[in-house]
Amino acid sequence: MDRRAFCRLLPAATAAAVGGSFLLPHAARAGDGSIAYTVQRGDTLSGIAHSFGTSVRSLQRANGLRGDLIRTGQVLRVPGGAFLLPVRQASEPMRGGLRTWRYIVAHHSAVDTGNAQIYGDYHKRRGMHNGLAYHFVIGNGSKSGDGEIEMGDRWFRQLHGGHVSSHEVNERGIGICLVGNFENHPPTARQVAALNALVAYLRDLVPNQTRVAVHREIDGRNHTVCPGRYFPTRDFHARHPNEW
Ligand SMILES: [Zn+2]
Repeated sequence: MDRRAFCRLLPAATAAAVGGSFLLPHAARAGDGSIAYTVQRGDTLSGIAHSFGTSVRSLQRANGLRGDLIRTGQVLRVPGGAFLLPVRQASEPMRGGLRTWRYIVAHHSAVDTGNAQIYGDYHKRRGMHNGLAYHFVIGNGSKSGDGEIEMGDRWFRQLHGGHVSSHEVNERGIGICLVGNFENHPPTARQVAALNALVAYLRDLVPNQTRVAVHREIDGRNHTVCPGRYFPTRDFHARHPNEW
């Protein structure tokens, strides 16, 4: 089977159901997919970062903070936080029952419309009986929300992925696909915020150290350009440094 096809998916007509969502207390959704969180007595920046599955650095950057001093009643912007909450709700009960993950791999879909349902149907038609080859799909506003994180069946069932040609990385790699063809244009700001929040959260959730990569770093440039020349690979690595 041509593995490259996993990143080159055909658009279809159906739209997936939008996943459920919930908010932590003292938090409100903002229009750009961030969350406005009101600091409570006893909160720490690292505690807030942990609650939303983001990093202290990300909170500092989003709020122009130099140190980690925060005041009760202060409103902090949590970038990408709204997108992450359904993932947290679904994933927290899975702590302790997670597959042994070692990699997190970012992809683009190479087409400008789609969602988890559409790509999953396509992968099934291509003979993958577990359907959607990725664990997560991050929408661009075409067939799911801009920055919406959809969870695939392989995440709920903690199944291996089918998103790269390396057997080891499929077995141990969490696949995240951003809708769009980033050979032609960059991902949306909300997609990037959602991706960064998701990766930070997954690295916290998974007990082992994980290596963060983009697809072409795993399979090589001669096999794929995924996730495309306009994907912010350098910034992605700067935000999620690898320790091995
Ligand atoms: Zn890919």
